[in-house]
Amino acid sequence: MRPEDYITREGKYGAHNYHPLPVVLQKGEGVYVWDVEGKRYFDFLSGYSALSQGHCHPKIIKALTDQAQQLTLVSRAFHADVLGEYMEFACKFFGYDKLLPMNTGAEAVETALKLARRWGYRVKGIAPERAKIIVCSENFHGRTITIISMSTDPSSYADFGPYTPGFIKVQYNNVAELEEALKDPDVVGFLLEPIQGEAGVVVPDDGYLRACYELCRQHHVLFIADEIQTGIGRTGKLLACDYEAVHPDILILGKALSGGVTPVSAVFANDEIMLTIAPGEHGSTYGGNPLAARVAIAALEVVRDEHLSENAFEMGALFRSEMERIDNPMIKQVRGKGLLNAIVTEPRGGKVAWDICLALKENGLIAKPTHDHIIRFTPPLVITREQMMEAVGIIKDTFAQF
Ligand SMILES: *Cc1c(COP(=O)(O)O)cnc(C)c1O
Repeated sequence: MRPEDYITREGKYGAHNYHPLPVVLQKGEGVYVWDVEGKRYFDFLSGYSALSQGHCHPKIIKALTDQAQQLTLVSRAFHADVLGEYMEFACKFFGYDKLLPMNTGAEAVETALKLARRWGYRVKGIAPERAKIIVCSENFHGRTITIISMSTDPSSYADFGPYTPGFIKVQYNNVAELEEALKDPDVVGFLLEPIQGEAGVVVPDDGYLRACYELCRQHHVLFIADEIQTGIGRTGKLLACDYEAVHPDILILGKALSGGVTPVSAVFANDEIMLTIAPGEHGSTYGGNPLAARVAIAALEVVRDEHLSENAFEMGALFRSEMERIDNPMIKQVRGKGLLNAIVTEPRGGKVAWDICLALKENGLIAKPTHDHIIRFTPPLVITREQMMEAVGIIKDTFAQF
């Protein structure tokens, strides 16, 4: 089969809810992937940051295959030996009393919303059905009905209504608007991404997270950080909130929590919040399954033992300084933190970000545009200096073609 044949078959039998770059991948290792014709590429998307530990990391794959031959699922109707081990490890890793295990990012966000509302009624003392949660413009938290009800992007929410009520939308990176919204006594939580990934790697001003966190404190409102994309080393710290010494009341993780191996997400909180949910009131058949637990322990150990946050910090600084040196009229801005970066492009001669991504692919590097004109560059955090310089060379050569 030729690559076109794979693509045609996918389009014939699969829903058209994605628009992939025309590359058909077959194999991955570290920062590289290979297509069905054996051509090698640098993976500069990394499964939207799920593959921070690199493709098929041997330690994570060993954890997966060992556990797969032992016990894969019990459901939470019974205990499993590895679940408590994972929970203790992860809670100590991120500094929380407890975690609630789920699978996908969207499920973890839903869990956090339920927790915040429950805490609002049971602890803060909000009147029934009144709880409100503040969210930000241009947010991305997933694809469920409730989550798209928080979205300000029509391509996420249009014609999927009626929507879930109970959300107040404020402008991202605007402390004054948050302060105003917090005057509503029914607010129980403020949910945000410390850097907005899907919006195009939008980095807020220094001090924004800290100011929001302190305002939430003053108003007895939970500060809820969706670090599904920014967390676990991606931005050059373990959490993006660490840049401003903010310890979220509720922390949401997913993606790299399993190193791109199996869907693993989790919500972290202290007892005052987490224990407001009692047996039978929330859960998931696959959440916290033994396979997920083993994989997540291994994935976090890799981040710690291979110093991936530190590497992301250094390689990210190198990447941005190299990109800023490119003199090309299509490059409007280079931005990001650690290895969560983007180039904002400007169309020129009928060429747009998609055309640049097609050319990058021809030259051996895959990346994907977001919002038409922004290209996200998020390689696995295991990338070496040598590999980074080779990738930088490909990007420079590609821009030179435009
Ligand atoms: C990817 C992502 C999600 C959704 O995760 P899924 O696993 O795709 O449901 C939520 N929030 C952020 C910030 C994300 O990047």
